[in-house]
Amino acid sequence: MRQVAEEENTMSTNVKSMLETKGREVVTVSPDRSLLEVAQILNDHKIGAVIVIGMEDRIAGIFTERDLVRAVASEGAGVLTQHVKTAMTTAVQRCREEQTVDELMGMMSAGRFRHVPVEKDGKLAGIISIGDVVKARIREVETEADHMKAYIAS
Ligand code: AMP
Repeated sequence: MRQVAEEENTMSTNVKSMLETKGREVVTVSPDRSLLEVAQILNDHKIGAVIVIGMEDRIAGIFTERDLVRAVASEGAGVLTQHVKTAMTTAVQRCREEQTVDELMGMMSAGRFRHVPVEKDGKLAGIISIGDVVKARIREVETEADHMKAYIAS
């Protein structure tokens, strides 16, 4: 029984398999899009964040609904005509495909954000949101429970 539990604990889902389930599509914008345009993009896609892509297809920043609320609350509605590059976060924390759900949970909780872009060979290769992390974690717990039940029944 202890051996089964220990084996299961080492099986944290990695980012690569999460992307295989959810897909690799990421909504991106250029740094010169206005905040109003980006707000419309977030709304159209029903998402909370876009990745801002700069020179040579590199990640230049991330802009989320939190940034939109902050910009409007601090500067008023006139801010909506400004470029997204003026309100995005440029120090973007990224992850690699080999990293695990547990590592991403730690990163999101320590940094207090809900989105992590995935990078491969210096290029954007997907995005993981807090919702994806929760789904993956629930799947892990359900699989562990099934294995435990099967073991007890045998
Ligand atoms: P969120 O909870 O993802 O809406 O983001 C909250 C704040 O953290 C916003 O200012 C975002 O621009 C910023 N943020 C979101 N994701 C990241 C990330 N991966 N690295 C750094 N900052 C981020």
